[in-house]
Amino acid sequence: MTNLLKTKIDFLVGEKKAIILEKEINVKTIEDLLYYFPYRYIDKSTFININQIYREDVYIQIKGKVVGKEIVKSKTPRLVVKFADETGITELVFFKGLKWINESLKLGQSYVIFGKPTKFQNSFNFAHPDFELLSKYVSNPQEKFSPMYNTTERMKNTFLNSKGISKIMHIVFNYLKGNIDESLPNYIIEKYNLLPRNVALQQVHFPFSPEHLEKAKNRLKFEELFFMQFEHQATKTTRKSKNNGFVFNFVGKNFNDFYNKYLPFTLTNAQKRVIKEIRADMKNGYQMNRLLQGDVGSGKTLVALLIILIALDNRFQGAIMTPTEILAIQHFNTIQNLLQKMSNIRIALLTGSTKVSERRKLLPYIADGTINIVIGTHALLEESVQFNNLGLAIIDEQHRFGVAQRSKLWEKNNVKPPHILVMTATPIPRTLAMSVYGDLDVSVINELPPGRKPVHTIHYYENGRLRLFDFMREQIKKGRQIYVVYPLIEESEKLDLLDLKNGFDAIERSFPLPEYHISMIHGRLKPQDKEYEMELFKKGITNIMVATTVIEVGVDVPNASVMVIENAERFGLSQLHQLRGRVGRGAEKSYCILMTSDKLTTDSRKRIDVMCKTTDGFAISEADLKLRGPGDLAGTAQSGVLNLKLADIIKDEPIMRECRRLAEFILNKDPELLYPENILLKNYLDRHKANTDYSQIS
Ligand code: ADP
Ligand code: MG
Repeated sequence: MTNLLKTKIDFLVGEKKAIILEKEINVKTIEDLLYYFPYRYIDKSTFININQIYREDVYIQIKGKVVGKEIVKSKTPRLVVKFADETGITELVFFKGLKWINESLKLGQSYVIFGKPTKFQNSFNFAHPDFELLSKYVSNPQEKFSPMYNTTERMKNTFLNSKGISKIMHIVFNYLKGNIDESLPNYIIEKYNLLPRNVALQQVHFPFSPEHLEKAKNRLKFEELFFMQFEHQATKTTRKSKNNGFVFNFVGKNFNDFYNKYLPFTLTNAQKRVIKEIRADMKNGYQMNRLLQGDVGSGKTLVALLIILIALDNRFQGAIMTPTEILAIQHFNTIQNLLQKMSNIRIALLTGSTKVSERRKLLPYIADGTINIVIGTHALLEESVQFNNLGLAIIDEQHRFGVAQRSKLWEKNNVKPPHILVMTATPIPRTLAMSVYGDLDVSVINELPPGRKPVHTIHYYENGRLRLFDFMREQIKKGRQIYVVYPLIEESEKLDLLDLKNGFDAIERSFPLPEYHISMIHGRLKPQDKEYEMELFKKGITNIMVATTVIEVGVDVPNASVMVIENAERFGLSQLHQLRGRVGRGAEKSYCILMTSDKLTTDSRKRIDVMCKTTDGFAISEADLKLRGPGDLAGTAQSGVLNLKLADIIKDEPIMRECRRLAEFILNKDPELLYPENILLKNYLDRHKANTDYSQIS
């Protein structure tokens, strides 16, 4: 019967619609269609009057007339429609599909509007609501839960609007007559008291009651999260069954000399703990695949160095790979400095700009093991770079590398893959780590070195600019240096650069030569010019560095103690946190000033509040995850791993945890899935393995 669900939908909907469904929403088979869930349900039994709207968070239905329309041409053009009923007037705002919507919503016509109101200043408006001609609208007092499906313009043109999809769903369910195979083993369904799959699917589209809907969703979320965790655990099980890791048996002279004589400060307890966790991994015979999380400034570099020394003690080479050249150079300088007195250790830097002659000299030394530690960018991945015996590869700032790039490191050795440690400076909330990097083991540095003073963060509206300039003068008088950062978003690059230029001019007028020196850098400058301006700032010659986000990573100027972020409402939380991390590195009290326009949306207001309230990177990324949803967070978009339809990794964290425990339990007992009761799970994996080669994922 499985074939029934895998059947193409053509014969049910006709070829033309089938093509559109595949193109627009990637629905090919009956199963794809069944898993195209409604995004919400409409209570079609009630209308709300415009003057009765008082809250933001619920979907409502209003009925009235279009009384005005205007296309506002700004950075992002939008269509603003004035919509009125007998009790009041509201605005419908559209940012996408302007032409089509403008044609569909006719002046003087009556419509039914479904949507979620947003509070703006003191009134409510609707962003991208659904609408339907009142004359075509059929009110149905029975349909308290009619499903609403997302559709596209092209779908609507072929009668595949929400109602059209709903009709097709009815046809499909009639055709299947309950013949939908179970995907989970019976013992799981019983243990967790889940609805059978066929009932859950029927109820999620056409629920009898809120309780039915809840149970249906619960079952489908469980299924989704369970298979996600099950795949991660299966990957881990396969990896650990191979028993193919280098064994770093002992700690020797390199580590001990450095630790006892040259360590510049006492390690924090968190640093000690993660080193222990990593050491245990490196001697148990399995290849390590570990994610090391730690906030900006938590001291990951030192951890990396210490474990590389252990690799060296066991006669292996170590490598550090970074996403940018600036970071590679910084690590190279730091590590060379720290190992100054240990002349037996040879370190090399290898990046895209390493001169050909220099490269030619280095490569043989890397290949014969003369060089012990190699630090570089993805230039390390080139085929010409061969190691003698790479035992440990460390990847800094993981989110900028794709999985495919990482796996190339594995091939640097003929015999066995090196141990892999992935370090990330953007703290990832545990829930996200569990879902995206569920197959990696995780260590966390949850403590900053002592003596760090939190950066004092203040929010000013535009009318605070004079106060801001006074404050900057005061700080410069004390000898401090200042960053002023402007957003630069690709889509509006020209306008943004204009903003930067105008900002620079305004600052230049208020901070004139010869008393003040100002620099400006942005991505369009030539590398030499960037470096030159950066040098002036590092040497303390310039007082103010006006920049775009090019300074987000890698820049380390301890005397810079003030970070001014312009148009702060346009930055994401993690970016604000990274930028703020550029100050607070020296001994001086540091400040971060967030400048915004007077009009803030609810979300940007929340982001600013979070920044003013906390400097804890984990708290910030939790908040970020809540505000934006996981899809957007650094790295997850590219990784494509998080592809959840119903489950929410924050709200459904308890289910996810339980699923993880369950998956671990099953695979411990039956690692090769040979028990008859696990046949469905084995089939699932076999189907999915065809698409993914697990041995390649680090
Ligand atoms: P990140 O985790 O962001 O990579 P770094 O490794 O660059 O952080 O460390 C940030 C700063 O903290 C560096 O200047 C480093 O020398 C310093 N540092 C690291 N560990 C300690 C420690 N245990 N005590 C004091 N300072 C430390
Ligand atoms: Mg770092």
